[in-house]
Amino acid sequence: MRPFQYLRPKTVAEAVTMAGDNPEAQYIAGGTNLIDLMKRGVTSPAKLIDINHLPLRKIEHRNDRVRIGALALNSDVAEHRLIQTRQPLLAQALLAGASGQLRNMATVGGNLLQRTRCSYFYDLALPCNKRKPGSGCGAEEGINRTHAIFFAGNGFGGIEKSSCLAVHPSDMCVALTALETTVVVNGPDGERRVMMKDFHRLTTQQPELDTNLRPGELITAIEVEDNAFARHSHYLKVRDRASYAFALVSVAAALQIDGGKIWDARMALGGVAHKPWRYWAVDLMLRGQAPSEKLFREVAEHEMKSAKATEQNAFKIRLTSNAIVAALKLAAGIS
Ligand SMILES: Cc1cc2nc3c(=O)[nH]c(=O)nc-3n(C[C@H](O)[C@H](O)[C@H](O)COP(=O)(O)OP(=O)(O)OC[C@H]3O[C@@H](n4cnc5c(N)ncnc54)[C@H](O)[C@@H]3O)c2cc1C
Ligand code: SF4
Repeated sequence: MRPFQYLRPKTVAEAVTMAGDNPEAQYIAGGTNLIDLMKRGVTSPAKLIDINHLPLRKIEHRNDRVRIGALALNSDVAEHRLIQTRQPLLAQALLAGASGQLRNMATVGGNLLQRTRCSYFYDLALPCNKRKPGSGCGAEEGINRTHAIFFAGNGFGGIEKSSCLAVHPSDMCVALTALETTVVVNGPDGERRVMMKDFHRLTTQQPELDTNLRPGELITAIEVEDNAFARHSHYLKVRDRASYAFALVSVAAALQIDGGKIWDARMALGGVAHKPWRYWAVDLMLRGQAPSEKLFREVAEHEMKSAKATEQNAFKIRLTSNAIVAALKLAAGIS
């Protein structure tokens, strides 16, 4: 392992100054992903900035939103009264991720920035455009069973246009995308707010970049606006094992239902694209309609028209379609 400088700031300003815009500096929070990457030599920061002493753990209701500090632990967020009552979709997604021990270490900021689980990315002997730009993509002709089925978006789909087929691994981020969360960041140019839809990136170019975070920027909080989805939402995760496994496909579905009709709908998918995949048409297709299996099947089939399989993951297209129908039925409370 390469020697590195270890720093422990006490304030956000101090942390941001220590990082500057130095691409060799990295923040560390729970360390559940970063330490793995360092041990394998996938990343070797020259400067490691331990942010665990920053005052960023608070979970509170402020104005019309729930604000969650970037260092709040995944387990604390999932179990917090405010999250369970106002944002149960987020609690469900967090509890579907990793294991109890990991959730007790993993933080909100670290979860947003965890790297892909594509095995070629973690193996220095194999080509990977994300780890080493221009080296090729091992998964393209290799093992791609768990990889993406959506690439550059409707109309641009096609793996020939994508330099990386990896999927984004976080469960939490799928729920946050459906809930149209805001990420608050602080960096050399001060504070700014980024919507979840703009936070992670697709991969037509620069697969090494997972997000639109600028060098040195620190995530300080996320903010989820009050909404009317608490009674009708569901996070469905399909995976190879019952626990300790990343999603093959996941669906975060949130509905506002009044008088037997759907008045608002949000959905995001996990395990299908380089970023959490927001299904934008779902609101238009469902609004004003009575919930039914037939309607939900139409909604699912509509989105799957722009999916494209690799050699080994054609099964994901049907699986995703079925998962969308199941998640919507569970959210709507129909069997
Ligand atoms: C065996 C295993 C199984 C797992 N299963 C799942 C699963 O099913 N679902 C799932 O969603 N996740 C899963 N995870 C991933 C886990 O959730 C992440 O490792 C964790 O969320 C990362 O958080 P952390 O605080 O430990 O981040 P760290 O490892 O400390 O950091 C991760 C990255 O975030 C950066 N970073 C951290 N905090 C900040 C900040 N505030 N501002 C800017 N940069 C920051 C670091 O520099 C680093 O690049 C699993 C992990 C393991 C090891
Ligand atoms: S899919 Fe992405 S992460 Fe995996 S080998 Fe290809 S470039 Fe690397």
